[in-house]
Amino acid sequence: MKILYVCTELYPLLKTGGLADVGAALPAALQSAGSEVRLLLPAFAGIAKGVRVEGLPLLLSPEGGPEILRTLQPAPRLLRGQVEATSQEVYLLDAPALYQREGGPYLDAQGREWTDNAMRFALLCWAAAGLGLGEDRQWRPDVVHAHDWHTGLIPVYLQLRAQDRVTPACVFTIHNLAYQGVFPASVLPALGLPESLFTMDGIEFYGQLSFMKAGLQFADAITTVSPRYAREIMTHEQGCGLDGVLRFRAEHVSGILNGVDYSVWDPSADPLIDAHFDVGTMGGKRLVKQALQRAMGLEVRADAMLCVAVTRLSEQKGLHLVPAVLDALVAQGGQLLVLGSGDAEIEESIREAVSRFPGQAVLRVGYDEPLAHRIMAAADVVLVPSRFEPCGLTQLYGLRYGALPLVHAVGGLADTVTDCTAETLADHSASGFTFHEFSATDLDSALQRAFALYRRPADWASVQQHAMQLRFDWLVAAQAYTALFQRLAPQAGTASA
Ligand code: ADP
Repeated sequence: MKILYVCTELYPLLKTGGLADVGAALPAALQSAGSEVRLLLPAFAGIAKGVRVEGLPLLLSPEGGPEILRTLQPAPRLLRGQVEATSQEVYLLDAPALYQREGGPYLDAQGREWTDNAMRFALLCWAAAGLGLGEDRQWRPDVVHAHDWHTGLIPVYLQLRAQDRVTPACVFTIHNLAYQGVFPASVLPALGLPESLFTMDGIEFYGQLSFMKAGLQFADAITTVSPRYAREIMTHEQGCGLDGVLRFRAEHVSGILNGVDYSVWDPSADPLIDAHFDVGTMGGKRLVKQALQRAMGLEVRADAMLCVAVTRLSEQKGLHLVPAVLDALVAQGGQLLVLGSGDAEIEESIREAVSRFPGQAVLRVGYDEPLAHRIMAAADVVLVPSRFEPCGLTQLYGLRYGALPLVHAVGGLADTVTDCTAETLADHSASGFTFHEFSATDLDSALQRAFALYRRPADWASVQQHAMQLRFDWLVAAQAYTALFQRLAPQAGTASA
């Protein structure tokens, strides 16, 4: 089975969130499960740097496509190559005027959306549809696997361009429904999209064009990154205005839990941490904690329950609840360390809160991959109080590193963390702490329960051991995707078959 995997981020070359981690790990796991996978990404500077280009570029067919194909110089083209570090086969959509810019992949250096985002990502979708329809004579995918709103127009272009050609199946995966790619209707003609699609059961969303809705309406199947989130997004509360569309397509919607790349996140071999440890050899964790407390300006205290968060600072992540519980956290002898970047207001409120507790609470602003590893390794508790969470990865990293997750019981967090209760402690299934109402009061009471367990070292160690032995394997996820792909493209078989 041949899969074209289309996304916009790839760890470690370009990452703003979990999408990049998935883009690195899932294709490799799909290959282990027997498929042949090629990636398609925009040639952002960070990505292009890590790719060895081979062979001749492919030109994109401009017929009926985004206007920019006829006006942009040099003309956009597809480069073929391999990711240097992994030898993963990849196509890069090369259009320097669109993708090689100072700033992020979606936002400029001031944090504003690039004004031509509709065109930038429509072009990616157009290129994907072309490959899907066989524009690379050497390699034609059976399935196009599209990720998040940037790729939502792929099934639309596939339908518009198919005519009597064989079309691949298209699977659309939602990593976060809150980011939807909504643009004024006036961009339609420039994207080569006919007015006839601009209806309520097409790509129109409250008078505008929605890439996300396009993906949901036209893909053959929709997946999201945890079973619980798949159910939640069909409700009015969590549907971000698209719950009706999702309910309409319910029989095509499923949740497949993300995995963890345990070759990157492994406390027994992680090259980014000062000392190694694992179940049965936990001494290294104490050393790492000591070193991190010292490096971060926290009081060096082995008995302090070190609570951490490694996160985007956005409304979604719930970090704005933390200042309200900090007094109680420090009063119980705990410490707080937050590594995050994003929303200036949330950053300011955390900065103000931690400034009241020098030596016990620290905020590190920025995006720092090596530090994220050291923090996970040192932590006793990883806080993930997200308002909603499609899957969440940091609680999974926390589990493996013996940092018990304390999470709001939603989405993938609810699917992966088992609350400590009398029953779960007795049957050894407990792995962390959950709270149900999205409020500082509920967060605080979960924290108090964490402190209570922390004061019973033997019980704490037993939960920690269980947490560290849990595995969220990418191969399991890859097998579930493969089964779905085979249902949609039964004629394809597997590469190894
Ligand atoms: P999302 O994709 O919504 O941001 P996830 O939990 O799925 O949330 O993935 C976040 C990923 O980004 C994790 O790999 C996490 O370690 C990483 N991350 C988030 N913020 C930072 C940061 N400030 N520094 C380093 N890594 C970060």
